[in-house]
This record gives sequence, C-alpha cells and structure tokens, in this order.
Amino acid sequence: MTTKKNDGLSLGIDLGGSKIYAVVTDADNTILSRAKIPTPANADPEKLAEGLVRTGKEALEALSLSFGDVSHIGAAVPSPVDPETGDCHFATNLAVKQFSLKDLLRERFGQEVYLGNDGNLGLLSEVVCGSAANCRNAVGFFIGTGLGGGLFINGKLLVGNCGLAGELGHMIVRKGGRLCGCGHKGCAEAYCSKMAYVKAIHKYLARHKCTTLLPADKFHSGSVNIKSKYLRKAYLEGDRAVCAAVDKGSEMLGIAAADVCAAVAPECVVLGGGVVAALGDQIMPVFRESFERHLFGIPPEKIKLLLSKLGDDAVALGAAIYAAKKGRV
Ligand SMILES: [Zn+2]
Repeated sequence: MTTKKNDGLSLGIDLGGSKIYAVVTDADNTILSRAKIPTPANADPEKLAEGLVRTGKEALEALSLSFGDVSHIGAAVPSPVDPETGDCHFATNLAVKQFSLKDLLRERFGQEVYLGNDGNLGLLSEVVCGSAANCRNAVGFFIGTGLGGGLFINGKLLVGNCGLAGELGHMIVRKGGRLCGCGHKGCAEAYCSKMAYVKAIHKYLARHKCTTLLPADKFHSGSVNIKSKYLRKAYLEGDRAVCAAVDKGSEMLGIAAADVCAAVAPECVVLGGGVVAALGDQIMPVFRESFERHLFGIPPEKIKLLLSKLGDDAVALGAAIYAAKKGRV
C-alpha cells in the first residue's frame, strides 16, 4: 500500500468499561477498519495504555499500516480529562484515579495523542456526521457500562473548568438515592447504565423471589456487568426484572435530560452507547414520557430526541475527529 502520512488518516480509540474499540478513518471521517478487544480487568494505567496500543495496532494492521502511517491519533477515556495536561481525574468504572495516559501513550505511539472524555467525543461525532448533524446546541447521553454525557454549545464542545463539563451521568436525580460508583447517592448513572441495571436485577430477583430469562452463564450472583444483547433478548421476552431495571433507568434519564435542557436549551438530545444500539426503540418511549413531564419552558416539539446514528463507532470516531482537529473543537 502506498498510503502516506499526508493522506490524513486518523486513528481513534475508545477505552470502554468492557471493551477497547479502535477505528481508522480517512480525512472525510469514513471508517476504513475497526478492531476490538476486551478491556483488561483491574488494569493499572500502564496496562490500559498497552490495551489501547494493541487495539490501535490491530485496526491498522488490517490495512497493512503501522502507527507511522497515520497523521492523527486520538483516544477517548471514561473519565473527565484535563484539557491542559491530558490528565484523567477519575475513571469510576475502571477504578483508577488521577492518572495520566497522555505521556504513556505518546511514548508508545511515537506521536502526540489527543485525549478526551468518551461522552464528549461520542457527541462530537454525532454532531459532525451523525444524527445531530448541523445542530449548534446538542446534548448527548451514552448508556454503556456507565452513563457518559456531552454538551455541544453554540457550535463548540463544552469542556469547562478542568475538563469537567458534561459529566451528565453524575447529575443527582434523586436525593439519597442509589449509591453511584463515584461515591455519591442518586446519580443518573446509578439508574441508567449496565452496572446499574445488573444491581437492580439482582435486587428485584431477591425481593420478588423470581427468576430471570438472562442466560445463567452470563448472569449469576457474582455478575456486575452484562452485554447489551442479552439485555435486549430478555427485555423483548418480557423478563420482569430486566424490564423494571431498564424502564426505571429510562425514566430517571428523562429527568436528567430535562434538567440539562433547563440549563442549556439545546435543539436536540442524542441517546447513544451500546445499550441504546441494542434497545433504543424500547428506551425511547419511556425516556420521552419522563422527559416531557419534567421539561420546563420549551415546548417538547422544539427539542428533537434522537437515537445515535453511529452506534458502536460513535466514541472512537469522535476520538479520530478530535485528533484530526488537534483538540480544537
Ligand atoms: Zn455518580
């Protein structure tokens, strides 16, 4: 292959709670290849950096390329990222705090790596080439292992003080409510995320002394996470524990989204992430009802509620776009 750096290829990598996902894109944000590995369990920052490198390498090798062939590299992490230093404050679902991936990644990739928060970068790709294309003010929620968020305001990604803007999963929607991985009680993420669903399903089964349709080898007493496809199957089959957990999450997400709209009055709210890719059509009606019931001031029809168009690609693609723009978005 004769591809050179100046062809404007980008590598974008999404460090998720359960998987690391990488894409290689051209200058038009078309995805040329993808790669995916499971996130190493209980990993320290060094191991996480190695996982990111391995996934990026696989995505490039599928095109017979190496790191030297790409012009831009970006990575999305499930943590607020300081825009000045690239330091990550707190990845609640990976149980690592105050770590710096930027230097580790620069060393391993041999070039600058642009780091951003996963929810922010997921929303960025939706605004650039997804379901929120042409919106100047958009809010994003990404339901996966945790609940990511992003704010795109007046045509720019809102980063805020220390990079902490858009942590929408940690808005408290119920005082004294369920315990969140961040240590607070009643965060939206403690209701609307795969880790929250799993906890709620365990509780429901114990309280109602009933069983679940989730496969026994995928869901058992020690489970803390589950793949979206199993949730989808059980939800569609009418599993009471699964339906109760997911619906409660969608209702609480409606409250969180209405709260954000009171603050920033966007043109649209985008729902994305693995859970939405699997169950978006089931989540949307419950979410919409709660959202409209809690919305203040703006007529509901003025705010479009959208499902992500980019699905599993959104965050990694956002990281590639972020890197190609050198973090100026
Ligand atoms: Zn929280």
